[in-house]
Amino acid sequence: MNKSRKINKKDLGKLLSQWSQEFTLFAPSRENGIAMWAKWDGKDTSFLDWYRNTVIPAKACFFPSQEKMFSFEKQSDGHNIELPPMDGQWRLLFGIRPCDAKALSILDMTFKDAYEDPYYLSKRKTTILVGLGCTTPCDSCFCPSLKISPSESDDVDLMFTDIGDQFYVEAVTEKGKGLLKNSQGLEEVTKADETKSIKAKETPFGKISRRINTENIEERLLSCFEEQEFWEQVAAKCISCGICTFLCPTCHCFDINDELIKKQGARFRSWDSCSFSIYTKMPMENPREEKWHRVRQKVCHKYEFYPMNFGAIACTGCGRCIRFCPVNWDITQVLSKLPATV
Ligand code: SF4
Ligand code: SF4
Repeated sequence: MNKSRKINKKDLGKLLSQWSQEFTLFAPSRENGIAMWAKWDGKDTSFLDWYRNTVIPAKACFFPSQEKMFSFEKQSDGHNIELPPMDGQWRLLFGIRPCDAKALSILDMTFKDAYEDPYYLSKRKTTILVGLGCTTPCDSCFCPSLKISPSESDDVDLMFTDIGDQFYVEAVTEKGKGLLKNSQGLEEVTKADETKSIKAKETPFGKISRRINTENIEERLLSCFEEQEFWEQVAAKCISCGICTFLCPTCHCFDINDELIKKQGARFRSWDSCSFSIYTKMPMENPREEKWHRVRQKVCHKYEFYPMNFGAIACTGCGRCIRFCPVNWDITQVLSKLPATV
């Protein structure tokens, strides 16, 4: 079977309905004006008119902002512990952008390869990713600088490309091939469709003008790691609100808390942020007491420490930390101030 098909945009609702019989289907949605991932309502495909990217990234579908780890009950001889169900119905995310799919592969390095996080993995292993190439990148996007295409992805199972009144649909993985084979309403593609898809994939590159230089970036960061004045200037306007880290698709720090009423309780984990002044607070000291220490940590974790540990930059150029920062702090401007060579 050819690994490509096409579908009329007006028939997308039928395809999503079909998939939603088999999977719990998530699609971009707006709640109180905020674009996020939500269970598809069974009919609405109007997100195609407004969707550029979600504010809350797809990481929240795998690593929610708050998650119950287990419930417990104190007993005379210890605790009775109950884990949440781990094997839910298979899920399908429709419309994930290539940058956010790459972010999940970057999170895998921590939650799958370095540690085996059962909460994350139980969702990751039972989710099919259907990508949708960008047509209108945001001004703050800079994914090509991170060698991530806005139109293509190896990190999804199936990829949709907008070719006008239709989507060009390509299987990327075996899972994607299986899905394509079992889906109805898709048509054979022609040479002309293929040509259109090639052009459609090239177009968004011309709309992304923001750039960063990633060459030797680990060494360049290392060379100014101890330069307090540089980092103080970089951190000056940050108000340590944490928005950039919460909305970053690759940030994955969390805090753990117990809630207990009498003998019953639950343990939760919640997103945390290295931007917060108490993030590294310990009984005797706080090694990142100053704001510049924390801003340095955020930048260096993505561009120096993660590459050192996993061989990958933990930034996809999605631009959220620029779009949603209340004081216009801009990571691309910070990186542009690094020495050009070491
Ligand atoms: S969103 Fe902006 S102000 Fe808030 S912590 Fe991040 S850089 Fe600082
Ligand atoms: S650091 Fe900023 S641009 Fe990079 S992945 Fe995180 S939110 Fe996106």
